[in-house]
Amino acid sequence: MSILQVYQIMIQPIQETQDTAVRPLDLGSGVVIGGQEIFLMAGPCSVESYEQTRRTAETLAIAGCRVLRGGAYKPRTSPDTFQGLGLPGLEILRTVADEFDMLVITEALAVEHVPLVAAMADIIQIGSRNMQHNPLLWAVGELDKPVLLKRGFMSTISEWLAAADHVQSRGNRRIMLCERGIRTFDAAFGNTLDTNAIALVRQSTPYPVIADPSHATGRSDLVIPVACAGVAAGADGLLVEFHPDPQSALSDGPQSLPLSMVPAFYEAVGAIATACERDLV
Ligand code: PEP
Ligand code: MN
Repeated sequence: MSILQVYQIMIQPIQETQDTAVRPLDLGSGVVIGGQEIFLMAGPCSVESYEQTRRTAETLAIAGCRVLRGGAYKPRTSPDTFQGLGLPGLEILRTVADEFDMLVITEALAVEHVPLVAAMADIIQIGSRNMQHNPLLWAVGELDKPVLLKRGFMSTISEWLAAADHVQSRGNRRIMLCERGIRTFDAAFGNTLDTNAIALVRQSTPYPVIADPSHATGRSDLVIPVACAGVAAGADGLLVEFHPDPQSALSDGPQSLPLSMVPAFYEAVGAIATACERDLV
């Protein structure tokens, strides 16, 4: 039975069976997501240089963060903006993450990136714009590698779960669902975090659920409170953008937190995790 069918039947707390169980999901190196611990996956929107990535990873690792994010292939709206470093970006991510014993999550933007990203990263991100790119879903579905599937910013929950079914139809059940904000009529935000979806998907599907307060708000001043909301709604992890100098970032600077905010992030969001009887790592 597909997970979409399970969801349509249940719309109530899922009874996991051997056939459907995904949580807790072992991502490697002691990072097991969907259990007691809530994992921060953090780093710059784009890998820009070795120094930028290393400074970011070092600050995060000192705070206890185990998963480094960063884009090497960027799905930019305009072709006139920075499109990512490509392979050198992947190499920087891998080198820096190994130095600090972190896992790497990065996006495969196209089917042809999948073998390289799978070789260099620990978790493959499928971006919001690609949620319904079925050949890409099939390509990552062929692998035994964790996949973080972002929700399309104009996709329903059913469409999102159908996309996850495309991944698992090829055998890969190591899927995390990431709510990264959906289109809103309000011009104050880039998008709006659908906390309803986090709560519903967490209780009615077997997948770990990740909240992305950076893309959901587009504003660094809202990232911490909205991350708190994601944790309160039941998220198993958070995908958050940090940059050593947000004002000079080549992508998503306005929503990137400076490294000086790492301790404040852990303190505020960790308190909500504690209130939910979980631990923020
Ligand atoms: C990103 O994580 O930097 C990104 C481009 O995300 P999204 O696909 O959610 O826009
Ligand atoms: Mn980004």
